[in-house]
Amino acid sequence: GSPDVLAALEETYDGVLRRDPGEPEFHQAVHEVLESLPAVLSARPRLSASRLIERLIEPERQIMFRVPWQDDAGRVHVNRGFRVEFNGALGPYKGGLRFHPTVNLGIVKFLGFEQIFKNALTGLGIGGGKGGSDFDPHGRSDDEIMRFCQSFMTELYRHVGEHTDVPAGDIGVGGREIGYLFGQYRRVTNRWEAGVLTGKGQGWGGSAGRTEATGYGSVLFTAEMLKRRGEDLDGQQVVVSGSGNVAIYSIEKAQALGANVITVSDSGGYVVDEKGIDLDLLKHVKEVDRGRVSDYAEMRGASARFVPAGRVWDVPADIALPSATQNELDAESARILVRNGVKAVAEGANMPTTPEAVHILQDAGVAFGPGKAANAGGVAVSALEMRQNAGRESWTFAQVENELTRIMRDIHDTCFETADRYGVPGDYVVGANIAGFERVADAMLAQGLI
Ligand code: GLU
Repeated sequence: GSPDVLAALEETYDGVLRRDPGEPEFHQAVHEVLESLPAVLSARPRLSASRLIERLIEPERQIMFRVPWQDDAGRVHVNRGFRVEFNGALGPYKGGLRFHPTVNLGIVKFLGFEQIFKNALTGLGIGGGKGGSDFDPHGRSDDEIMRFCQSFMTELYRHVGEHTDVPAGDIGVGGREIGYLFGQYRRVTNRWEAGVLTGKGQGWGGSAGRTEATGYGSVLFTAEMLKRRGEDLDGQQVVVSGSGNVAIYSIEKAQALGANVITVSDSGGYVVDEKGIDLDLLKHVKEVDRGRVSDYAEMRGASARFVPAGRVWDVPADIALPSATQNELDAESARILVRNGVKAVAEGANMPTTPEAVHILQDAGVAFGPGKAANAGGVAVSALEMRQNAGRESWTFAQVENELTRIMRDIHDTCFETADRYGVPGDYVVGANIAGFERVADAMLAQGLI
């Protein structure tokens, strides 16, 4: 990049720090994208002249609201709800809702910002947004979850719609919550508007394969990265963090492609299973019992060991799939992975790898798939769900999986070729950031000063 482009980027970033203090995850996400852009900005002066970056980092709309609800004992609780409609140049705002006590505006902005580029990479005409609440679903009864979702939607409904903003799940929001949210939306609007939410049940407008999509997609992306190096997943030792939807279906796809997946984790610790994770048992513990990975270890017997402290990255592996949450894989863990000979890391979660850890992995020649590309399968199938809803169609699992496979290959190749074109071969971070950015930037330029 030219010196004035670099100086302008620095100034823009300083502006974010000043204007939005106390949002470290948002700063981190913005910094990572800006770091990738000097070459594009130098080559295209119109982007700087129209202050494209300044516009891009300011959400189009940020909504915060009160969510009062009553627990089973009749006690009243007040949570905070969020929806950040970050960028709608490519289509209706699209992105999940996260229910987790760590949720605040900075977290939602970081997720919404990432979502812009991820959604652009899918090529399916969706803008970027994100939402959620600091509500903690842990230990709450089904009735409490329902009342919370109803209260949340009683406010959110006025901001969303199939042509406006289309939420889905994220951490703490799965099929059950989408059901309660959809029911309340239908009740307060008196509209059968299937395309207002994705991740719906298959009997009422949901898409086959949506539950599996993020995990399957991140493994398909990993397979594409390995293919470029003349390798595949067969016989590879894999460590997965997390034990939610992304982790479970990453394990399913990795096992189907012949890999040996030996770990899962949650906030209580991790499990190493020398014989390979028993997926039926894990699904039962997580999806039916809503239990913990320690329960899995207890029920699994001799091959599995529960480790209450430490991280899955301590376990030697060829492939690492961080699929839990942001900044879960730090520099120290990256060094351990490299020392143990890891070949590929793909982010199933959003921004699970710290910036320092990313550089350590890349410097060591590890293939690194950033979340915007590697975990785009989930939102891609959400877009396919919107397409089915618009046509009142219902595709088979095989149809959806074929599309997903094609889309993940396409995203991989786009990132790979973009990195090549900008002189950083094999750098999927820069490839994803530039390719996603250019699609959004072109649309914004064409649409005038928006
Ligand atoms: N929460 C998922 C993501 O991080 C999916 C979003 C969606 O399907 O809209 O991409």
